[in-house]
Amino acid sequence: MSRRKVVVIEDEPDILEVIDYNLTREGFSVFAAASGDEGLKAILREAPDLVLLDLLLPGLDGIEVCRKLKMDPVTQKIPIIMVSAKGEESDIVLGLGVGADDYVTKPFRPKELIARVKAVLRRGALKDEEAEGERIMRGDLVIDAIRHEVRLGGEVISFTATEFRLLHLLAAHPGRVFTRDQLVSRVIGGGAAVIDRNIDVHIRAIRKKLGEHRSLIGTVRGVGYRFQEEPFED
Ligand code: CA
Repeated sequence: MSRRKVVVIEDEPDILEVIDYNLTREGFSVFAAASGDEGLKAILREAPDLVLLDLLLPGLDGIEVCRKLKMDPVTQKIPIIMVSAKGEESDIVLGLGVGADDYVTKPFRPKELIARVKAVLRRGALKDEEAEGERIMRGDLVIDAIRHEVRLGGEVISFTATEFRLLHLLAAHPGRVFTRDQLVSRVIGGGAAVIDRNIDVHIRAIRKKLGEHRSLIGTVRGVGYRFQEEPFED
């Protein structure tokens, strides 16, 4: 099998070195770029399997790079992991909003970075086959999209339509972070009366109904929510 390619757009040499070292050790081919423009060129040239994108860059910043990649049919399917400094939650929300797949905050442990890279690649491979699955199972929790039914240990639990759609969307993309805006637009629709807080209320109701499985829906502070990924063995 050929080595998987990762384009890393990062202007801090120390961080780039850490990323490069760890990805190379894991068998990836790494192509580094120190600015947004250089990064875009590298992506078009290499057609990588994944992009690691620093947010704060000279010239074209990470959000702009992400937006360009997602607007171009040639590059829009390439998964993007943002790398941002702590305390840039608003940028993370922005990045997820323009199509980034995940993010890592600096300082990060190399192990964490590698795990995120592998998870995003794995998710990409699964996406076409089963991510939009009609029946999602996790232990004794069953989310059945055809019957619009949630069962826990064999018993049907009553969910409102909105709660069901929210749970199904999150569970269909385990590990992926959704911002509140994304949840509102994909689940509730463009109703003007909808405000952020409503999502929190629905999530609270869902967690209550899930009982001991409540922790399946994780809160990502300052960003949104995600359905917990299954522990993978490598
Ligand atoms: Ca930077």
